This record gives sequence, structure tokens and C-alpha cells, in this order.
Amino acid sequence: MKGRRQKIDARRIRVSQSYTIPEIARLLGRTIPTVRSWIKQGLPVLPDTSPRLICGEDLKNWLSERARSRKQPCGLARLYCCKCRRPQRPKPDSVGTSELTSKNVKVSGKCGACGTQMQQSRKLKDLPLIIAAMKDPTQGQASLTGYSNALVNQLFEQASDQTDLNASQKGKSNVH
Ligand SMILES: [Zn+2]
Repeated sequence: MKGRRQKIDARRIRVSQSYTIPEIARLLGRTIPTVRSWIKQGLPVLPDTSPRLICGEDLKNWLSERARSRKQPCGLARLYCCKCRRPQRPKPDSVGTSELTSKNVKVSGKCGACGTQMQQSRKLKDLPLIIAAMKDPTQGQASLTGYSNALVNQLFEQASDQTDLNASQKGKSNVH
């Protein structure tokens, strides 16, 4: 099918029922990898279920929460906190990255308000700005804990020194 994907019809979800991943995919007209990616993004799975089961009520809530979070762009300095139900600044020393690809990176951090772990996929090219924005200017000692990837450290250093950003990117063509 071309064009925009059909909107998810959450009314099809029965709150009192539990679903497997293929059942959800069929029910909502999405692919199985899409549903798996929702779980990675935080869709709750019932504990100790194999195959994994998702409670209909959780699914419904999570999808409506996600729709709401999409309407509230987080900006560079914030991640969406599912407990506070709005974008929040992460604690600077909790910010970390994972699943680095040539285009995307997963940025995570603990909510500055409630401590809940937050995680969102961002464009890799935005990472220096994201790190700079998330680093609280009043806490210059922001720790690099969690930055296991050399590239991320390099980007972090670039972000730390905005004046050098353009020059160093020209000089280092090995960013990809
Ligand atoms: Zn929070």
C-alpha cells in the first residue's frame, strides 16, 4: 500500500484480553517487527509469559500515551517520561547512548523529576546538540559514565566545545 499508513484503531483492543505479538499485529494492521519495536520502546509485557503476552489494557494505554507524546515534541534536551507523562530533562550524569547505527542512536537517561528510565531513538547527526542540550550548564562535571562508544565520546567532546564543532567535523571525516 502506498501513502500514509492507516491509523491504529485502538477501539479494537479489548482491555480484558491478553494478546500475543502476532495477534496484536493482525488486530491493528501492523507488522510483527513493528509490535516488537513497541516492546523495545516500552510497551509492557506480562511477566513470565512465553510466547510473550501483552495485556489489552496496557496496550491501549501505551498507544494513547505514545500518540500524546508525539504531539509534544521533546526538543533536544528532553526525553519522554512515561511516569510523568511528559517530556522531561534527564539527570545529566545518567545520560547514555546505545544501539548506535550510522543514522540513529538510542538516547537514554533517568528522569530528572522522578528517576524513571527514559529512552528514545534520535538522529545520530543531532547527537552532539542533544548531548550539549542535556548537559546541565550548572554542572560542568557531567560524567561520561555510560558512554562506551568511542564515536559517542568524540561527539560529546565536539558538543562540549561548540566553537570547535564545525572545524573538527571537517577535520574528522571518519564520523560514519
Ligand atoms: Zn518522570
